[in-house]
Amino acid sequence: MSDDMDPERRRAELAERLEEVRARIAAATADAGRDEPPTLVVITKHFPRADLDHLVDLGVRDVGENREQEASAKLAEAGGPPPGVRTHFVGQLQSKKTGAVARWADVVHSVDRGKLVGGLARGAEAAGRELTVLLQVNLDEPGHLGAAGAVEVSGASGATRGGAAPEDLPDLAAQVARSPLRLGGLMAVAPRDGDPDEAFARLAELSARLQQEHPEATWISAGMSGDLEAAVRHGATHLRVGTAILGSRPPQR
Ligand SMILES: *Cc1c(COP(=O)(O)O)cnc(C)c1O
Repeated sequence: MSDDMDPERRRAELAERLEEVRARIAAATADAGRDEPPTLVVITKHFPRADLDHLVDLGVRDVGENREQEASAKLAEAGGPPPGVRTHFVGQLQSKKTGAVARWADVVHSVDRGKLVGGLARGAEAAGRELTVLLQVNLDEPGHLGAAGAVEVSGASGATRGGAAPEDLPDLAAQVARSPLRLGGLMAVAPRDGDPDEAFARLAELSARLQQEHPEATWISAGMSGDLEAAVRHGATHLRVGTAILGSRPPQR
């Protein structure tokens, strides 16, 4: 397990995989005719704080987590996040955990219902922090997964799906815009069995529609280890990559 690995070896391994992912992103950016690569958010869930510190040392400036308890322990309690690092929360959020997340997160990618907005706003205000939120949208076919907000864990990545139904985005965006939170844009996870290009094209359309009402909401968080090229093709501004850099997750407790 990574915890027991010799720190020098682990650092070298992370450096090599990070380089590979950066090369993939650079190639995809060139193929898409884009000038600037998207921001790489490295998802460090299930891996120890030591890995996060290695990554920061290797130049990573954005790190993400998907579980409040693990993230709070790793980021907030362990002496705070490394200086100069932007911290992202990308997992399903329970409303009772909003305050805890707002204490350390700079960006929350997974706002999919109005119930989360008040708690995040109060938490950020109490902590004296500026918090950017993205609206997570459900790109599964209507009826395929059931109700919006359903939680499903994908076999490959452990990323939770769910998210708001596309038709609920305008109301949710208006609610965030009225709050002290900064509306950053949209986030989605590609459907498990679908074509990621199709899903991310749809996300780009939803983003364009959102920006007609909220021109500042330009971020598109899309693309993971397996589908980052498709996300780059369709205008992702932020990629969330875990496994391709950190390796397969250690066995669950
Ligand atoms: C884990 C996770 C990722 C990263 O997935 P990989 O396939 O490991 O790159 C991205 N987004 C979310 C929401 C996740 O939970």
